[in-house]
Amino acid sequence: MMDKLSQRYVDGIMADVIARNPGENEFHQAVREVVESVAPYITSSPHLMKLKIMERIVEPERVIMFRVPWMDDNGEIQINRGYRVQMNSAIGPYKGGIRFHESVNLSIMKFLAFEQTFKNSLTTLPMGGAKGGSDFSPKGRSDAEVMRFCQSFMTELQRHIGQDTDVPAGDIGVGGREIGFLFGQYKRLRDEFTGTLTGKGLGWGGSRLRPEATGYGLCYFTEQMLATRGESFQGKTVLISGAGNVAQFTAQKAMRLGAKVVTLSDSNGFIHDPEGLDETKWQFVYELKNYRRGRIKEYVERFPQATYYPGQRPWGIPCDIALPCATQNEIEKADAEKLVAGGCRCVAEGANMPSTPEAIQVFQSNGLLYSPGKASNAGGVSTSGLEMTQNSIRQKWTEEEVDAHLRRIMSDIHAVCLKYGTEDDGTVNYVKGANIAGFIKVANAMVDQGLV
Ligand code: NDP
Repeated sequence: MMDKLSQRYVDGIMADVIARNPGENEFHQAVREVVESVAPYITSSPHLMKLKIMERIVEPERVIMFRVPWMDDNGEIQINRGYRVQMNSAIGPYKGGIRFHESVNLSIMKFLAFEQTFKNSLTTLPMGGAKGGSDFSPKGRSDAEVMRFCQSFMTELQRHIGQDTDVPAGDIGVGGREIGFLFGQYKRLRDEFTGTLTGKGLGWGGSRLRPEATGYGLCYFTEQMLATRGESFQGKTVLISGAGNVAQFTAQKAMRLGAKVVTLSDSNGFIHDPEGLDETKWQFVYELKNYRRGRIKEYVERFPQATYYPGQRPWGIPCDIALPCATQNEIEKADAEKLVAGGCRCVAEGANMPSTPEAIQVFQSNGLLYSPGKASNAGGVSTSGLEMTQNSIRQKWTEEEVDAHLRRIMSDIHAVCLKYGTEDDGTVNYVKGANIAGFIKVANAMVDQGLV
């Protein structure tokens, strides 16, 4: 239970955020989660109240929206909308991914940029928070169409970004192919070869392990969570949602740590393979999604012991661990109840905000280990930060070096979650821990830098 002063503080901030950003439900949801966690800390720090630090943090430093016109393969003109939300630069240049998905709107961009600010703060690296994207979907588009779209998108975005200003990366719908097209156009227009985008190809400035980093980092973090209860991945049944970048490398690492990964999904449905994935099946999914750009239902045509469930989510399958890696609000209250009923003891988020507040409540009241994305999926942006460092010093680290940094960062994030999130009864509230730790660093930097 929150004290009265903190509750009044939360109510005040939320009333303002809702009035100033009408209809932006995802943004409201992300702000509320952070404000509820940090309210007791702020209300007991009069200088943070007086300086209106939270009121400033919820207002993006800059929002850019722009027209993205392009021509499809039939010669028809298409118009999409582009975004870049530069949320907070108190601790470093803006940093955050670009999402290409039909659902993209200002609310989703602002929620992601807000989350990114605290996530980046947790990584221990000097990176501010941002997010960008477009309501363009690469699904079903030819390579030439995707290239023309990326070139048009970057023609406007390039004037707002730079290696010391704002460094975008990938997210849903933006993988190696898209980063290549975006980087090519950036380089052509700015006449410079810098580390302004991360997730680049290995042969032209990309970091080793960047494609793997979010998924691997998620598994390293989950290992640490499990270790607090004397457990590990060994022999555990794991549900994963999604079949994209994060899901693929989460599955690979979980498998290699001894777990049985039994589900994957996409926006059309999920597959259940009771025997679990192995390296051959994993390779099939990797090629299906990254080269053939097909649908996950094709898995059951190749591996008939598996079952495809169209239009459903995987959370009803019994498991020990659930790792949501698709999208926001993909675990609702009823899904969370199914997970609990199916024996799940640990939920660690690979996606951003995949669990609704009601679902989180179900996890926490049933004593599950539960970690929010801003802590457990921070390995991706951390390795992007390592890519920026390598680009700046014109060097390339080995896989072992990058992996060692990634493990250390995930372990440091876990440690601050324990520091700020351990409750009086010894249980760990990872939401509280991540939000308070992420907030303190940003807030202190804002105090130091004056009213800007
Ligand atoms: P990808 O585009 O590679 O994969 C996304 C996967 O999620 C696909 O399988 C996609 O299915 C599915 N998906 C997307 N939208 C929906 C939806 N509305 N309903 C159901 N399924 C959906 O993206 P990533 O793997 O990069 O990103 C996944 C999540 O991880 C996102 O929340 C992202 O913000 C987060 N994240 C990503 C990081 C990264 O480094 N890439 C870093 C940190 C977080 P379909 O093909 O049908 O669209």
